Amino acid sequence: MFERLRRWRRDRTLERAALPDPLWQEALARLPFLEAYTPAELLRLRELVTLFLTEKGIVGAKGFEVTPLMRVVIAIQACVLILELDLGWYEGWENVIVYPDEFVPGYEYEDEAGVVHVRDEALAGEAWEGGPVLLSWADVVASSDWETAGMNLVIHEFAHKLDMANGSVDGMPPLPAAISRVAWTQALGAAYDEFRARVEAGEHTAIDPYAAENPGEFFAVLSEVFFVAPGLLKAEYPAVYEQFAAFYRQDRAARRA
Ligand SMILES: [Zn+2]
Repeated sequence: MFERLRRWRRDRTLERAALPDPLWQEALARLPFLEAYTPAELLRLRELVTLFLTEKGIVGAKGFEVTPLMRVVIAIQACVLILELDLGWYEGWENVIVYPDEFVPGYEYEDEAGVVHVRDEALAGEAWEGGPVLLSWADVVASSDWETAGMNLVIHEFAHKLDMANGSVDGMPPLPAAISRVAWTQALGAAYDEFRARVEAGEHTAIDPYAAENPGEFFAVLSEVFFVAPGLLKAEYPAVYEQFAAFYRQDRAARRA
């Protein structure tokens, strides 16, 4: 009964909040990586985006005007991660806050020694545990085409959101029973150590060297690669690719090929 009620409400929301076709098409055109998506995947993505936009506010910071196109472009990239999961992964927070450009969070935090610091470096994006996702629109635009940017800001920050669903940002989101925590840790751990060694040796890497920062960033950066350049991830770290395909329930490299 509850399942039927839930589905009824979902269908009503989809009807009421349906995205106009020109808006949807314009947003797709801004994101070249979606060319590899099948019509069935795009249909499901459109439904998820519609639901995402009814549940989350995408609001401008400092008077920045967020247009409907910006909202859809952001929501699409947030939803590719959960295309085969569900919106429940993004529960427990309300808003995406969009800055025109890089921003300084300016909040205070206490370190392990109890010393209070002010976060004053400029950021392109940040995901808060139990709070909003912050994005610089200039960087959303700059990173919407992998071929020129080699990164994807929105996918990165939302990968952190998945990672945070069980607390700390440590590169391990809540794993379903079918995925072995040992196998996950081994695959990602070995790849992380290897990648870090390459970056430390000064090697030029096709994957953003920022991934060597810590295991949390490694998961977020490699998630970008999984969705936007899946063949690269499969070639460089096949064991990680396999874990991601099981976790996200998508075989993106097969889709590309
Ligand atoms: Zn990050």
